Amino acid sequence: MSETTINPSTTDNQLPSNIVMSGIRPTGMVHLGNYFGAIRNYVSMQDDFECYFMIADLHSLTTHPDTKTLKENVRRVLAENIACGLDPNKATFYCQSHVYETGELYLYLNMLAYKGELEKTVTFKDKARQHPENVNAGLLTYPVLQTADIIMHRASLVPVGKDQEQHLEMARNFVVRFNHRYGDIFPEPHAFNYNKSLVKVPGLDGSGKMSKSENNMSTLYFADDDETIRKKVMKAKTDSGPTAPNTPKPDYIDNIFMLMQLVCEPDVISKFEADYNNCNIRYGDLKKQLAEDMVKFMAPIRQKTNDILANDQYLVDVMKKGAEQASKSAVKTMKLVRDAMGLNYL
Ligand code: ADP
Repeated sequence: MSETTINPSTTDNQLPSNIVMSGIRPTGMVHLGNYFGAIRNYVSMQDDFECYFMIADLHSLTTHPDTKTLKENVRRVLAENIACGLDPNKATFYCQSHVYETGELYLYLNMLAYKGELEKTVTFKDKARQHPENVNAGLLTYPVLQTADIIMHRASLVPVGKDQEQHLEMARNFVVRFNHRYGDIFPEPHAFNYNKSLVKVPGLDGSGKMSKSENNMSTLYFADDDETIRKKVMKAKTDSGPTAPNTPKPDYIDNIFMLMQLVCEPDVISKFEADYNNCNIRYGDLKKQLAEDMVKFMAPIRQKTNDILANDQYLVDVMKKGAEQASKSAVKTMKLVRDAMGLNYL
């Protein structure tokens, strides 16, 4: 990830430099990967920056065309983010489909995106492989829509996990092309993480990443009850342990230690590191400890989510306020865009 320099904000037509934007799809329940890759950063950034956080309901249509569960999923993801610490009074928290200007900016950006580069996107190739029956144009142009979302607020800091790195690179390309052709309207967006490097939370099976849409048994969801969390952690892939001191860890063991880094106390991790290096590690004990620390971390968030979900009027109010604030910003940006493009004949 490139270093991101944070400068004081600017106003009016100058390029703003410290606006934050990110999104999460309502394609399922929020999980540990979303938290450590993205939401944890949202929560830290909302005190220091102008932040826009979005439920990416339109993005979800590229892979989940059935909208029957969308309403419920949108509410759940809203509630889970708020339970994780996102504060709708500090950040603008809204649904993508409530900002109508997005479709317009997406259209303009599509003229600056080339078929060849879109086809090369790793996420497109993965999704096309997984769902050969639904390789739609929306899926192909996913990075274009994502760019429209980000630059709609002229944001430059994008808190995301490592899986989004390539999309951010494409967003920068589209921005550079737009600015080159029509004038400097947009700052270049960069992936942002407080800990310098971007995070990828691995799946418990030792392969891939935790994910909302796939990999159910390998992903820890905030909606999981305590027993399910314990069961999933205890099933994580291990082996009979190293036979020589200081052996490099295989990927799946490294992943478990990485999960410990997220929720366990440093002295607990040091003890198991030493056990590993001395060839007397007991993975059963390690997983029990990890499971308990996970439960301690995740259970209060689940409880809070349920409390928020029980108050539907609150969620409706959050969505309305978010839509109003996000639309205001979008209207302002689109005026700049149309003027820059010469689409102002009246
Ligand atoms: P998912 O892949 O679970 O459907 P989204 O595509 O909605 O999640 O992504 C929401 C945010 O969560 C993005 O910033 C993405 O980078 C981050 N994210 C998703 N999975 C992980 C993971 N396993 N590790 C780190 N960050 C992740």
